[in-house]
Amino acid sequence: MKFLAELGIKAENPGVSTGRKWMQGSAGSISSWSPVDGQLIGQVGMAGEEDYAQVIATAAKAFEEWRTIPAPRRGEVVRQIGEALRAQKQALGSLVSYEMGKSLQEGLGEVQEMIDICDFAVGLSRQLYGLSMHSERPSHRMYEQWHPLGIVGIISAFNFPVAVWSWNAMLAMVCGDVCIWKPSEKTPLSAIACQHIIAEVLERNNVPEGVLCVINGGRETGELLAADLRVPLLSATGSTRMGKAVAATVAARLGRSLLELGGNNAIIVSRDADLDMALIGSLFGAVGTAGQRCTTTRRLIIHESVYDSFKEKLVKAYGQLRIGNPLDETNHVGPLIDKDAVNAYLAAIAACKEQGGHFVVEGGVLSGAGYESGCYVKPCIAEAKPDDAIVQTETFAPILYLMKYSTLDEAIAIQNNVPQGLSSAIMTMNLREAELFLSAAGSDCGIANVNIGTSGAEIGGAFGGEKETGGGRESGSDAWKNYMRRQTNTINYGTQLPLAQGIKFDL
Ligand code: NAD
Repeated sequence: MKFLAELGIKAENPGVSTGRKWMQGSAGSISSWSPVDGQLIGQVGMAGEEDYAQVIATAAKAFEEWRTIPAPRRGEVVRQIGEALRAQKQALGSLVSYEMGKSLQEGLGEVQEMIDICDFAVGLSRQLYGLSMHSERPSHRMYEQWHPLGIVGIISAFNFPVAVWSWNAMLAMVCGDVCIWKPSEKTPLSAIACQHIIAEVLERNNVPEGVLCVINGGRETGELLAADLRVPLLSATGSTRMGKAVAATVAARLGRSLLELGGNNAIIVSRDADLDMALIGSLFGAVGTAGQRCTTTRRLIIHESVYDSFKEKLVKAYGQLRIGNPLDETNHVGPLIDKDAVNAYLAAIAACKEQGGHFVVEGGVLSGAGYESGCYVKPCIAEAKPDDAIVQTETFAPILYLMKYSTLDEAIAIQNNVPQGLSSAIMTMNLREAELFLSAAGSDCGIANVNIGTSGAEIGGAFGGEKETGGGRESGSDAWKNYMRRQTNTINYGTQLPLAQGIKFDL
């Protein structure tokens, strides 16, 4: 495939890099199989402990220099990374689609998010503002500044193999930090491709070796970062199970973690909804990326007066979905990431039935021509109870649960009554309903939308969620503060030294 060569991807790839330099990785290798056609795309070396030691030492050294470079100059390097990504958008988007299984349009969209965060970070590089305060002491000035933090560890999930890294790394870079990225072991080649793309920019700008590092490996490699005192911030995206493990390790050493974990997102479809709009939002939210987005719509809470008619529209729309090769733009739904994900999907369907769920669109695994990878499944819809254990669980697959409500208070209670708190939406033309949903008594999620589905994010807004989603906020708004340390400075330009709180200390 042409895009692999364009991105420097070979059959065998070294898996560890400190920017421009590559190391093979001494802990064996990971094979990357495409869920699109079941083919082996390539192999990537895995970092061993000695590779890790070398990377962290190089990153620590790079930090000493990088933190002293003025932020707008760091921003200029990020601007050029954005340009390099623009030039490789088609190739990188194609690889993301082929390695992860999302549609080509979504693969390209993911690279566009990377470009957008570069633009955002460039502007930010001139806006890392601190406040100044009025001191209570005469001839004193008090202000705060934001300093670079150090080494930022980035652990990413398979479903956004490249964008999540850039959300973190581009902000961290303008903030004066250095990064060590541990990509998902399910999508290592997309990470290798990113490293190739940025290497030329790092070279051209004489960026110290170690500012942007990558270490491929599995959970154990992530655990090394979590336990390492030299990593003041660990940003981890993935399952709640992973987040709980990482958070405990980082907290035990009093480090900072930034967690972006699982979601269980709902749309409330009001009787005052524009039902055509609600249909599009629900459909894309539930089946886009084959239900493998953290913001995927997993629950529809529908007003009883429109329940039957909306269900009917939905069932009809599911009947028209085309499932197949995601690189073919006429298909709507691609494969799940691997056979384990297919098994988790089948187990969830069985559990739903056991718990009394009733499927109005049946699921199943597809076989035959075009489905040889064994990873293509049918998006399905079940009527279920809000409290069913399976409804309370995030299954990373296209299974949509329908439930009925009669009052908005009841709908909001159902929406909030899950362990996760990432994204939520209400479809309504009624101002009172919309405002109540967005109020303190409304949605408890990090993202709450009106007349837009739950899925997707836009650079500029802070992205993340509450409860078991982990509480982190990335990408937009003031998320940059995660990557810096705040220092309060007081300067006495007078001739006296008045002590705080009026304390006298006469000799
Ligand atoms: P996962 O938790 O299996 O793996 C994510 C990453 O964590 C991988 O790089 C993995 O190697 C690493 N890892 C796993 N266990 C670890 C441990 N104990 N210590 C250190 N590292 C460890 O998740 P996944 O299957 O790749 O991704 C799907 C999950 O990610 C879903 O739950 C989804 O909702 C979530 N997700 C959340 C967001 C968000 O922004 N909230 C975004 C994307 C994905």
